[in-house]
Amino acid sequence: MFKNRREMEIEKYKRTGIWFDCRAGRFTMTTTAGSPSMLVTQTLPLLDKCKTITELRQLHAHIIKSNLIHHTPTVTKLISLYSHHGGLTHALSVFHRIPDPNPFIFFSLIKQMSESSTPLEALLFYAQMLSSLKNLDRVEFLLPALLKACSKSRALEEGRQVHGQIVKSQMLFDPYVANALIRMYSELGCIGLSQRVFDKIPERDQVSWNSLITGYLRVGEIELAQGIFNEIPERDMVSCNAMIDGYVKSGKCELAEEVFMTMQHKDVVTWTTMISGYVFNDRPKEALGLFREMLSQGIRPDAPALVSVLSAIADLGFVEEGKWVHTYIRLNKISLSSGFIGSAIVDMYAKCGHIENAYNVFEIICHCRNIGDWNCMISGLAMHGLGHEALDIFLDMKMKGIEPDEITFLGLLTACNHGGLVDEGRYCFELMQDKYRLVPKIQHYGCIVDLLGRAGHLEEAVNVIRNMPLEADAIVWKAILSACTIHGNVAIGESAALKAIDLAPEDSSCYILLSNLYAKVGRWDDVAKVRLMMKQRGVQKIPGSSSVLVNGEVHEFLVGKEMNVKYSIEVRTKIDEVVTRLKLEGYKPDLSQVLLDIEEENKEDSLFLHSEKMALVFGLINTSKGSPIHIVKNLRICCDCHSFIKLVSKVYNCQIVVRDQNRFHQLENGSCSCKDFW
Ligand code: ZN
Ligand code: ZN
Repeated sequence: MFKNRREMEIEKYKRTGIWFDCRAGRFTMTTTAGSPSMLVTQTLPLLDKCKTITELRQLHAHIIKSNLIHHTPTVTKLISLYSHHGGLTHALSVFHRIPDPNPFIFFSLIKQMSESSTPLEALLFYAQMLSSLKNLDRVEFLLPALLKACSKSRALEEGRQVHGQIVKSQMLFDPYVANALIRMYSELGCIGLSQRVFDKIPERDQVSWNSLITGYLRVGEIELAQGIFNEIPERDMVSCNAMIDGYVKSGKCELAEEVFMTMQHKDVVTWTTMISGYVFNDRPKEALGLFREMLSQGIRPDAPALVSVLSAIADLGFVEEGKWVHTYIRLNKISLSSGFIGSAIVDMYAKCGHIENAYNVFEIICHCRNIGDWNCMISGLAMHGLGHEALDIFLDMKMKGIEPDEITFLGLLTACNHGGLVDEGRYCFELMQDKYRLVPKIQHYGCIVDLLGRAGHLEEAVNVIRNMPLEADAIVWKAILSACTIHGNVAIGESAALKAIDLAPEDSSCYILLSNLYAKVGRWDDVAKVRLMMKQRGVQKIPGSSSVLVNGEVHEFLVGKEMNVKYSIEVRTKIDEVVTRLKLEGYKPDLSQVLLDIEEENKEDSLFLHSEKMALVFGLINTSKGSPIHIVKNLRICCDCHSFIKLVSKVYNCQIVVRDQNRFHQLENGSCSCKDFW
């Protein structure tokens, strides 16, 4: 007696010659096979049962042995199943052995080829089919697949040939074919051709409109896309999402918000696009706010939304928010390996000054690390000036057989730069070229020049620039200039400054560095000349701004004024008090840092109103004793503020963390983790 249906089935196949051996997990054939017709009726249903390539191969072997390879329906089925399960190579090897393949075989192979990594083969195959089979019927089914193959392989010429055939066979009236054609031209960047097809087709549906909009957005024609968007009879989610994306990418956040607000139904893509749009446009606060709103509406964020919000928090630099998102990810059991979430958390902790947390997360993802995770950890350590630790991670990476890329080396060079590791930096720069055959980009040159220059190897740094195959940009010359400012080398500094100013005439920092250089050696007339040049050219200094987190709220200070008038008097009184106390400890304001054309006695005042000083005293007033003060500054911290904050950390016995444009400064007990190297 048989226990169940399955066993009965097995028994039936055993009797007929072929059966599925459950224990071995494969098809087996008994030696006493039946007649050919019987074999066909047994084999066809078995083919349908195959779920994997391995199973198909076993049955394929049986088909060959039992001479069924000449039986057209069986072979057709075998080929179509092979293609369906991703075994295109197997399908082709069967195909090449049959003398007269039928249209169905061609169709299924062409469809699969257009989806494969070599989609252009679909077209060659199509041509082969047309020449070997006459009087073909219903070829139009293949047209969308062919158009897709053309756009995937960026084959415009072939695409136009398919277009010709569409016109010849009058298939432009088929909305499916017409939309595929619009999409192909739009994906190939030929938006004019897309528009022409669009204008010609008698019936336009949502897909036609949307394909045209995305086409215009792809080539950056935001106004034209907007025109089409306004014309659409009915806007759906796809067109709205595309428009939001287009607007934010061209810096038009307000227009994106307008579309976002008017949408009745929003999906997770809508929210994510808007959130990442805010991040893209340097509006991290709004990104974080919208993320919270998304959660409050019960929408589960996808990986891109989480990555965006983590990057917003990293920009803001305040770890509490980051910890909150990290907890959300943990509680909702979202995998750290999905869509770069692991890297984003590592990056967020590193940029928020919690490098140990970054390292802990990096350890947790040790089984599924990708190159991005390694790179994030290395650049995180670099920001903290932990050069040796970054090099250790690199060694670990090499041991695990992970091939470093350009970003890895940029991180390593930055790490050596911030850690003042000159020999190691030189070694990394050579290693990337000699061993890994990576061609340094301008950023790599910028780093090595900066490293050599700061360490006082000015001649060597200039030689690197002379020998580099690329044209040095303003950043590279600024690195030399800044090194000359540190080391008081006017000769090299002046010529570097002229080159930098020539390349980036609107960049205020070039003028400021040059003016600092003159100030350092007491050439006040030249300082005045540089200032005049700035004024005449209308170069605006980027205003320094600093934020400090107090009681869970971000307070922002702009150089010379408080953002919030409420605190104005309180902050100024406290600054006076702190300055008096520091002066007793030997603090001398560094007036060379003041560039404004004002009287000596007012210079001090303007120095004390640097945004980081205001943020610091605001932190001193409002944080309880013993808790660290976190400050984020948009520019590089100036020398005077650096020594001021160092002294505060000693006199007021508190821990201060400052993140400036380049790196972290952990100040405690009168000294800084950057060892005055920043
Ligand atoms: Zn300052
Ligand atoms: Zn420092």
